[in-house]
Amino acid sequence: MKKYTIGVDIGGTNIAIGFINEDNQLALKDSVETPKRGTAKNIIDSIVFLIQKMAKELNVLKENFDYIGIGVPGTVNKESGKIEFANNLSFHDEDLMGMLKKHYPGIPMAMNNDANAAAYGEFVAGVGKEVDSMIMVTLGTGIGGGIIIDRKLYEGSNFAAGELGHFVINCEGIPCNCGRRGCFEAYASATALIEQTKTAMKNEKESLLWEMCDYNLEKVEGKTLFDCVRLFDKTAEKVLNQYIYYLSVGIIDIINIFQPDMVCIGGGISKAGDLILDGLKERVQKEDYARTSKKQAKIVFAQLENDAGIIGAGLLAKHFTN
Ligand SMILES: [Zn+2]
Repeated sequence: MKKYTIGVDIGGTNIAIGFINEDNQLALKDSVETPKRGTAKNIIDSIVFLIQKMAKELNVLKENFDYIGIGVPGTVNKESGKIEFANNLSFHDEDLMGMLKKHYPGIPMAMNNDANAAAYGEFVAGVGKEVDSMIMVTLGTGIGGGIIIDRKLYEGSNFAAGELGHFVINCEGIPCNCGRRGCFEAYASATALIEQTKTAMKNEKESLLWEMCDYNLEKVEGKTLFDCVRLFDKTAEKVLNQYIYYLSVGIIDIINIFQPDMVCIGGGISKAGDLILDGLKERVQKEDYARTSKKQAKIVFAQLENDAGIIGAGLLAKHFTN
């Protein structure tokens, strides 16, 4: 009988679910909107509904479910099984997993932070397959991350480790959402890149960037900048070089602390490809404390995109639940 591990990724907008086969591949994935009134009960009802629909499609029964893993955008206390802090969900401190267990008694389950799940998914089924240690850095609205050491997720004593957006790269720097100043996230997230682009544009009225966004600052996105760099716009090149400098400072810090086999960069910015990677690698090679070592951290882009969170949530349950 074919067995499936089910990965559930609960986001602020969508709940994505995947049936993962025994080769750690997604056999089927689907998603539903996160209920507007996102009470724990509404969320559980949506999850159960979608799992049943997908099981029907794959023609499998509950008996074929091996493990169920859930990823949530918050801090999960593994001892109490509760979500202690969730920014984008309107509930907290509720026993989400306990509620799901009532629908699937006897099936082992685990719940993890979504960024950690994505890192683990990328590690096991994506770009990190061949290595033992990997630090994932996701450049999006903020900066998320996950730390995998000796093939295990590192969560810290309170399950809140891996907040790689919130170490400081500039002590007197710009304020961060977390209350500190000069965090990596405030300089190297996609949001930060867009702000840096807009600031440069205000001083450079001739830049191609203006044409690229229909002369509307509100329309500036990461892609606007990368498109203009490809057309050799000087302002765009300047912004990108500055951004790569900020990014490299954070990435080199991470490498100096962990010296991992691999640093994996995910999020929308990774679509820029070599425009970012070449400059970043060059700086890292110059400044990595272990630059003379025979072995250095590989810097690569994530492969699995949104699937990483689903696969990782499921496989964390499979690999670390009894
Ligand atoms: Zn911060």
